[in-house]
Amino acid sequence: MNMTNFKKNDIFEAEVLDLTHEGQGVVKIDSFPFFVDNALPGERIKMHVLKVGKSFGFGRVDEFISQSKHRVTQLNLDYLRTGIADFGHLSYDEQVKFKHKQVVDILRKTAGKSDYPVLPVVEAIKTINYRNKAQIPVQMIDGLLTTGFYRKNSHTLIPVEDFYIQHPEIDAVVLFLRDEFRKINLQAYDEKTRKGWLRNIVVRRAFHTGEMMITLVVTSKKLPEKVELVIDHLVERFTNIKSVQLNINSGTGSFILGKEFILLYGKDFITDLMLDKTYQISAPAFYQVNTPQAEKLYETAYDFAGLKPGDVVIDAYSGIGTIGISMADRVAKVYGMEVVPAAVENAKRNAQLNELENTHYEVGTAEKIMPKWLSEGIKPDVIFVDPPRKGLDEGFIKAAAMMNPRRIVYISCNPATFARDVVRFEAEGYLLDKVQPVDLFPQTHHIELVASFNKNKRG
Ligand code: SAH
Repeated sequence: MNMTNFKKNDIFEAEVLDLTHEGQGVVKIDSFPFFVDNALPGERIKMHVLKVGKSFGFGRVDEFISQSKHRVTQLNLDYLRTGIADFGHLSYDEQVKFKHKQVVDILRKTAGKSDYPVLPVVEAIKTINYRNKAQIPVQMIDGLLTTGFYRKNSHTLIPVEDFYIQHPEIDAVVLFLRDEFRKINLQAYDEKTRKGWLRNIVVRRAFHTGEMMITLVVTSKKLPEKVELVIDHLVERFTNIKSVQLNINSGTGSFILGKEFILLYGKDFITDLMLDKTYQISAPAFYQVNTPQAEKLYETAYDFAGLKPGDVVIDAYSGIGTIGISMADRVAKVYGMEVVPAAVENAKRNAQLNELENTHYEVGTAEKIMPKWLSEGIKPDVIFVDPPRKGLDEGFIKAAAMMNPRRIVYISCNPATFARDVVRFEAEGYLLDKVQPVDLFPQTHHIELVASFNKNKRG
């Protein structure tokens, strides 16, 4: 059958063959693939066609003829519709197996080898209610200010009260604010008319201390009437709130946060602990969303690094300094760099708070600072990298290799860019030794991993 023969609303009965890395079922009709939400491998479904493209299409389940024994049947389907938990319909054991396979497959596909040791995934103990951060969009629905999450690939808000994967106290804060804002008739921002004030509610809750930071993302500095009263009520009700801020975003893009923050209550940071070190975290700074799993991730990274007391270490993409600071008292010197100035301020302060005198932080991009440090003659024994999803820059990799470290430890939140960078590191003589996936994001398709590269040898 030719692909042009498929039409919207056609109905087929088919078996689900596979799962995409984002959790959609894959169905093939005469070898033409369709991607189907809420469909698991092994299930037989009656599917109707939603959309047909050149080389693939999208379908929807009309009816299950048989269901997978790994299906979690009691899941609220809004968690799939929004992508809050796009793997939530799959049992946790299977989620973890799938994530492992995904790392193995992408290394084979991209790096052309299947002999890379990928260790079994470090599973999470807490598989729901684990997130320490939420960014919740706000919209008017039928005249009522409503909090929830966008339907996937849209800006249509689906109301949600229990966000399933985040700490329940974060949900409670969001609901409290929603109800208080309803009482004062506050208007949420409307993307079409560009009217209204409140765009998003961002909540962070430190895992070990319970301290909370609330950021209201709004269109202007001017507080609508009675908002101050709402803040008073909020901090009275939740006494662990240590910071309330406005973030001004008057733009039309899809970025959540604007540049400017205004402090309304408390301090402009909250404090948490990781691996028994103290950290101040400010609103613009990155902080791993699953603290106990991030602690396991870091410990694996130190273990892979095989740190020695005389080591000079680089912590590239250092954020608020967590990776370097947790190990600084085990090595001679830590250098860190990070592009967000507020995060670097936090890192410097955090080094002081933990009474460390052997750390050095600079603001700037890793791809600029690494060649600069190379030319300044900095000679690290171990380099840690923890880049965002886009992975590393080629110039960074070359500079890192020219520094001639004993080992490079790579923390990645994106196996695809990681696999690409494996090829580049191996070309520079840094051979992949082992890979340890760590599940920081249960119920979702995201996977984190830590890997080590040794100079000219494996093992
Ligand atoms: N290691 C930290 C942060 C990791 S997240 C932790 O574990 O918490 C990645 C960090 O890289 C973020 O803080 C982000 O602001 C920073 N970043 C993004 N692009 C960068 C670049 N080109 N150069 C340096 N830092 C960058």
